[in-house]
Amino acid sequence: MAAHLALMSEIEDARNDAVSLLRTLVRFPSITGGEAEIGAFVAGYCRDMGLVVEIVEAEPGRPNVIATWESGRPGPTLLLNDHLDIVPPGPLENWRYPPFDAIVADGHVHGRGTIDTKSGLTTLLIAVRAARAIGLPIAGKLVAIFTCDEETGGKLGMQLLARNGYLKADLAVVAEPTTLRIEIATKARIGLEITTVGKATHGARPWLGHNAIGDMARIVAGLQDLADRLGHRHHPRMGRPSLNVGTIEGGTVPNMVPNWCRIGVDRRLIPGETKEQAIAEIEGVIEGLRGQYPKLDAAVAELIWWPGYMLDEGEPIVTIAAGAFEKVVGRRPEIGVKDAGTDASWIRSLAGIPVVMFSPGNGLSAMNANESVSIDDVVLAAKVIGQIIADVLVKQ
Ligand SMILES: [Zn+2]
Repeated sequence: MAAHLALMSEIEDARNDAVSLLRTLVRFPSITGGEAEIGAFVAGYCRDMGLVVEIVEAEPGRPNVIATWESGRPGPTLLLNDHLDIVPPGPLENWRYPPFDAIVADGHVHGRGTIDTKSGLTTLLIAVRAARAIGLPIAGKLVAIFTCDEETGGKLGMQLLARNGYLKADLAVVAEPTTLRIEIATKARIGLEITTVGKATHGARPWLGHNAIGDMARIVAGLQDLADRLGHRHHPRMGRPSLNVGTIEGGTVPNMVPNWCRIGVDRRLIPGETKEQAIAEIEGVIEGLRGQYPKLDAAVAELIWWPGYMLDEGEPIVTIAAGAFEKVVGRRPEIGVKDAGTDASWIRSLAGIPVVMFSPGNGLSAMNANESVSIDDVVLAAKVIGQIIADVLVKQ
């Protein structure tokens, strides 16, 4: 109990440090591919608090930072994770404050990445630093991993670490935006590209060619119908699956019959659906059209596969995280799920580690313009992370 109170007051006293750390992190424009500088900063921050730091680079300038607090006493290993990269800010005129100035106003820090996910990063760093500052008597090991390449699927980040044996832990917390909920599941995601091939000719004699955009229009309409049918599927925790045709391009000039067209499709799966089934349904739409239009020439290519996962509410990491939240906040947390893929999917699917997500940012506003996070929520989330560290690693 004394350790609990000391840890909470240490984090409360670090409020200004948390704000200044978050502002520093936001000022790194670490759009995926540009993680080198923020990686070096985070590595230095971890070294300064006495952690052993290893940097694993998938490619030059693409760091994954692994910081370890080894107690020397037998006990469990707790993995804390967040990513270093962010998505681009989009059109600047949509922003009230410049996205990389980290302006403080109305009790919030404003800027790209404040929600996804530099507030989460801040909570992990502040909580670990406070735990070390008070000499929290941990047993076992705390490992904090800060990855590159998360926003584009984690091939150079968490996937690489998992496939090379770096992920060894009993429990894990990923500080992705959850609006202070404990999130225990993500939908799986497939990214597909569908291409149609036609025959180019002069636009004044289209009957001599074959229009690839016309074929694609039929496919898109068929996929919209499929998306409507998917809306009838339902999982009690994960809700409905989805299908979105997100991009389309094709043709050369208006007065030529186009011989190519391409769309990008995003499909989110709920438990019970498989990747093979989802792709077969999409191919079924195309097959059906081929029956009506024999010249239709289309191919489906799989670009992204991001597995989903779902923990049972009785898993120890869920009850520990919920209990820690209750000790800090004084009420039970909301337990939720995430639509989007995160590194938690790889931690679970490739390394088998039970993992929850928790951080102060509002996931629904992540990637929007005018991203911002409440400073009170950042401090509160850091306390919950600190409490989770204590509840997992300090022998009761
Ligand atoms: Zn994220």
